[in-house]
Amino acid sequence: MTRQERYAHILNYFVTHQPVAETELQYENPYQLLVAVILSAQCTDKRVNMITPALFEAFPDAEVLAASNSDSVFQYIKSISYPNNKAKHLVGMAKMLVSDFKGIVPGEIEELVKLPGVGRKTANVIASVVYNKPAMAVDTHVFRVSARLGLTVNAKNPLQTEKQLITFIPEDLVPRAHHWLILHGRYICVARNPKCPECELKQWCKYYSSTFKTKKYGKESKKEKSRSEKSF
Ligand code: SF4
Repeated sequence: MTRQERYAHILNYFVTHQPVAETELQYENPYQLLVAVILSAQCTDKRVNMITPALFEAFPDAEVLAASNSDSVFQYIKSISYPNNKAKHLVGMAKMLVSDFKGIVPGEIEELVKLPGVGRKTANVIASVVYNKPAMAVDTHVFRVSARLGLTVNAKNPLQTEKQLITFIPEDLVPRAHHWLILHGRYICVARNPKCPECELKQWCKYYSSTFKTKKYGKESKKEKSRSEKSF
């Protein structure tokens, strides 16, 4: 199977069986999504969703957050990972949003990455989810699932994965493809012991065909194990 054929089959499967794919983070506007995505680094969406209602009530927009301080924000986010850094980033982000962008979340990657706490992954999520741009955010799930399926080949880091995926996925499908890969990685193609028997993609999956042939199914190779455990 060529790489183009693999992409075509897998994308066709998702378009047919999962036409709607969205972030599991709860938000009502671009500002709230940006805050939630910053908070979600090294943390589950579920946990972020538990704390954001009170946080958004206390800091309803960038102006209010910018006028606050990291100690106040910390009180609302202390149950998630890296609360000190994230509290500082949120206040810094809000200050710049107000001073440089009139409080409006920008849509350009180059502008988004200037905001404190916003790396390329977060910028791509905002560009894709808010502005429907063909930007592919690569997190640990996207990185792992793409490699296992054979959508990426020898990608060493998220940027290489992003570039390979963008090359093959039609622009109009990129925003949804990001969610398809994340959700597949979260619920089926989990890091340890992927649920291959129940996976609907196995007929096009490189990992499945190679492990099946070598009768190693159920055990991760050393290389695969280290790839699975990568975290961004
Ligand atoms: S067949 Fe297994 S390795 Fe391949 S995508 Fe499905 S769960 Fe992941």
